[in-house]
Amino acid sequence: MLNLILFGPPGSGKGTQAVKLVEKYNLIHISTGDLFRREKKNNSAIWAEVQSYIDKGELAPDSITFRLLKAEMDKTPDSVGYILDGFPRNVDQATSLDEFMKNQGTSVSVLVELIVPDHEVVNRITGRGKIEGRKDDQDPQIVQNRIDVYKSQTAPVADHYDQLGKTKRIDGLGTVEEIFDRICKVLDIVTV
Ligand code: AMP
Repeated sequence: MLNLILFGPPGSGKGTQAVKLVEKYNLIHISTGDLFRREKKNNSAIWAEVQSYIDKGELAPDSITFRLLKAEMDKTPDSVGYILDGFPRNVDQATSLDEFMKNQGTSVSVLVELIVPDHEVVNRITGRGKIEGRKDDQDPQIVQNRIDVYKSQTAPVADHYDQLGKTKRIDGLGTVEEIFDRICKVLDIVTV
């Protein structure tokens, strides 16, 4: 199995790259942000529980997030691997994931971090907010909060996998194709 954590700040291009990676490697793409947006669309009980966190740019509770992720993974038991996008978002989520994967007889193969400077992240997020109408992408204060949460809670996840020799950092600036090539080079080494 190839289990990839596609990692980087909000607006670093994870979603765009995931679409291309799915095509090339046949992996299942799971974005926890998308899972929450699906709950929002369905106006579900889960959405009622997490809305206040997400609208402020905070992380949703780990237990709810992990439950959603596992339910989504359970839908594709025969998958050759996963691209996790937006998960894990803190070290507790990473250790839960490691344990879960171990019980399934698999593990995280690699974490690829897209390195993008702050000012570029802000430009990209606000541009996307206008196109997609995402509330958490439009308000500068919420955007800043998401970047702060990324730095304080999420960035340590890359260090967690670095200690396991699984973190690969790549330049997240350039064209979509250039960045895709960089990711593929990393994956082609991991999969041989
Ligand atoms: P994203 O589309 O990945 O930027 O996620 C949008 C929002 O959903 C985040 O700002 C969080 O509020 C929430 N979210 C997404 N993934 C997670 C996660 N793994 N843990 C907690 N909250 C999450």
